[in-house]
Amino acid sequence: MKRRDFLSGLAVTSATLAAGQATKSTDASQNKDAQQNLKVPRTTPAKNIMISAANGITPRGSHIDAGYKKLAAGADTLEAAITTVSGPENDPEDDSVGLGGLPNEDCVVELDACCMHGPSRRAGSVGGVRDIKNVAALARTVMEHTGHVMLVGQGATRFAELMGFPKENLLTEHSRKIWQLWKEYHSDRDWWGPGLADPSFKFPAGLETSALEDQPKPIQRLYALAAEIGIPEARRMDAIQKVLDPPTGTINCSALNEKGEMSSVTTTSGLAWKLAGRCGDSPIIGAGCYCDQDVGAAGATGSGEENIKVAGAHTIVENMRRGMSPEEAGMDTLKRIVRNYNNDMSKLIYISMHYYILRKDGAYAGVSMWSGPAERPARFAIADGSGPGRHEVAKALFQGNPKDWPPMPRGRR
Ligand code: ASP
Repeated sequence: MKRRDFLSGLAVTSATLAAGQATKSTDASQNKDAQQNLKVPRTTPAKNIMISAANGITPRGSHIDAGYKKLAAGADTLEAAITTVSGPENDPEDDSVGLGGLPNEDCVVELDACCMHGPSRRAGSVGGVRDIKNVAALARTVMEHTGHVMLVGQGATRFAELMGFPKENLLTEHSRKIWQLWKEYHSDRDWWGPGLADPSFKFPAGLETSALEDQPKPIQRLYALAAEIGIPEARRMDAIQKVLDPPTGTINCSALNEKGEMSSVTTTSGLAWKLAGRCGDSPIIGAGCYCDQDVGAAGATGSGEENIKVAGAHTIVENMRRGMSPEEAGMDTLKRIVRNYNNDMSKLIYISMHYYILRKDGAYAGVSMWSGPAERPARFAIADGSGPGRHEVAKALFQGNPKDWPPMPRGRR
């Protein structure tokens, strides 16, 4: 290189460096401004705390405690949150998430998940994934190993395989039978179920229990069908409930550590009997979960379509940024859903929505559109090291139960 070229190169480099520094100091002062505009209380040091949907604690184990144990031992906040949600993902008895999730209308389990890592301000997401159960970890892998934020469908499954995630059949016999019950129950409007000409055609089995006699006719019909399909008696009413009221489930988990770092993750098998390819709110950054560790994190379970329209998790975090408490921020967001229906209670009664909210100072709230029945109120899970993880009752916007969709008589559990 000639000396003149070297010197002019140097000049360009220093000019670039100087310009870079100017940009940096502008960024730094803008960051400071942004910090000063925050109306979020600070506590130093922050504390270790995690919040999740109610299925973070089940009779089969406390997944939130497993995550909290890692958090308290100094693990990354996203690692702790993913540990929590992988519990239901791996649990075949939880039919709202991962392995054993209720399938779509074609009887295929399709999973959605997204995550946000506060310390690195990154996000990852996957939608409509088949054959891979740990989609929360897969969303993190998209975040860590690609330049993208979201992968869907076959591309997401292929990426998972390439990254060493095991492929497996996610449909359990329990979930398949509930799908079959749903399919055959609608068979007066399609060709499912044995036809009259079938040698194995049977008129519905006799009703064995007297308690059933005062059930509405559709429940009696379903009960007989469930018996024919071979659903064990103890699980029949639960299966019927899932047919009449396609369940929402899902788990969201957010974690805060003593350094003030935060992350959030949501994973689900989505709405039961959905159309193939349908993605709900769970893989949508800003709807299913959102995290800005300058402010806090929020996540959602419930009617995905409604939550997408209010960008629920993002709206909550922005509400907290402007000074609302976690509970106020969640209630305001629920009211936006109410506004979308012009306060029409005859429609809102069919919408279930829950938010799990954690502010950067450790303040938290669980809020719900409907309170749920007195004996089974809407709840969420908390782990903060003050004892084992616990359930707390969510603050409800409306008292009562959301109704089944499509509208059908409700079965007795
Ligand atoms: N929000 C999820 C979805 O719409 C369902 C759920 O939370 O259960 O896919």
